Amino acid sequence: MVKNLIGAEWRAPSGPVLPVYNPATGEVIEEVPLSGGEEVDQAVQAAVRAFQSWSRTPLMERVQLMFRYKELLEEHFEELAHLVTLHHGKTLEEARGEVRRGIEVVDFACSAPSLLQGRTLREVNRGVDQNLFHYPLGVVAGIPPFNFPVMIPLWMFPIAVVAGNTFVLKPSERTPLGAVRLAELFLEAGFPEGVLNLVHGAKEAVDALLGHPEVRAVQFVGSEPVARYIYQEAARNGKRVSAAGGAKNHLVVMPDADLDLALPAILNSAFGNAGERCLAGSVAVAVGEVGPRLLERVVEGTRRLRVGPGWEAGVDVGPLIREEHRRRVVGYIQQGIEEGAEAVVDGRGVEGPGFFLGPTVLDRVSPKMVVAREEIFGPVLSVSYAHTLEEAIAQANRVKYGNMATIFTSSGRAARAFREGVEAGMVGVNLGVAQPFAFYPFSGWRASFFGDLHPHGPDAFLFYTRRKVVVERW
Ligand code: NAD
Repeated sequence: MVKNLIGAEWRAPSGPVLPVYNPATGEVIEEVPLSGGEEVDQAVQAAVRAFQSWSRTPLMERVQLMFRYKELLEEHFEELAHLVTLHHGKTLEEARGEVRRGIEVVDFACSAPSLLQGRTLREVNRGVDQNLFHYPLGVVAGIPPFNFPVMIPLWMFPIAVVAGNTFVLKPSERTPLGAVRLAELFLEAGFPEGVLNLVHGAKEAVDALLGHPEVRAVQFVGSEPVARYIYQEAARNGKRVSAAGGAKNHLVVMPDADLDLALPAILNSAFGNAGERCLAGSVAVAVGEVGPRLLERVVEGTRRLRVGPGWEAGVDVGPLIREEHRRRVVGYIQQGIEEGAEAVVDGRGVEGPGFFLGPTVLDRVSPKMVVAREEIFGPVLSVSYAHTLEEAIAQANRVKYGNMATIFTSSGRAARAFREGVEAGMVGVNLGVAQPFAFYPFSGWRASFFGDLHPHGPDAFLFYTRRKVVVERW
């Protein structure tokens, strides 16, 4: 059974457990405990004790430990990628990409000496100077989703702890193994006990964190209904909160797009990570006369994708996370067909034993259909049509989410009009996944984000600190 990390001690709580699967074989490979309020309190108390000295540890000592952590993550890069593939299912190439993007946040955390600087203004009044300092908050908590078991925990605790906070991480109960390995390496890097604590579990553990008076801030990444709930509950309890939610990303293809460049980007966006990505392209909107050409190329490209275990060479699409989730995605395909779409590529025939679903293309999806509005989170690409760019932008803006939208075009004018008009916080031009690098915020809009300050980038340093202004006269 995977264990909680309380201070320096790995503890296995008694009580209920859940299986952890290898989604490519359907086998149970581990068990994860469902911790409750008692375990959460132990972790928070360990973090409270550690905060006393950690928040006073000189910044350059904290940064040196972060550099050491970065070295260890590099040394264990392949091992971490294999672990992601083993219990999440994505291909090894995708897992390597995930680990790399996670380490980039650790690199960014090492720039704390620049990002934690305050400001001063001398002689603001006669003989009066004013100074602004950044202080850590105290104990803070992170609640990541299942789909990036290494990268998303790394969005959270490195920036929080380098800023002087202590952390309680509640990993996804479906993919808890990445966080365990990250925590082991964190201790090996030499961080003091209690700076990072792990509590495994699900709703009960989350609710205990949301209600704990010592937890000052909560960073959440996951589905939209839970993000909304976390935002409300954390705020009700007086906590700072950053809650990233789901998505429904549109890929707009203009008649002047270079389809040779656009095609691989569209296929990767829709089917990479088996579509279990908050930056997955979900609806391809063909503008004007590109429609038939685009559909033909998408169908042809999708049919060539290989489905299989993520560790096998040449595999493009790994399994989904669980059988229930696979059934849910199949349900969406069925619903799309019932609403009038045509499954021009139908992935439902792919056989188990793992939780596999082949990439699927639904043609003639209209904006009113459920498959055009709801997040499917599987390897399903809807194709819809628009006469003009304005109409395509209106389709994208009709959904409640606003995570990402991208355009494929050779016109700067069209790209600019798209950027200006689309209601999404991450915009791509001629690429399929517009993921900001760690030094920019992951800036979803509308129902894709609840809060003010986004994951990573300078936002995250502001999120994990509070400001003190000192007005001085001597
Ligand atoms: P999820 O919302 O089911 O779970 C996320 C976390 O919340 C987990 O740690 C889980 O234990 C906890 N949780 C689940 N239900 C809860 C409840 N009722 N009360 C309290 N806590 C609860 O999400 P998931 O299925 O793990 O992840 C997929 C979702 O995450 C997708 O919607 C995807 O778009 C989204 N996501 C968003 C981003 C982003 O940056 N916007 C990034 C990755 C994933």
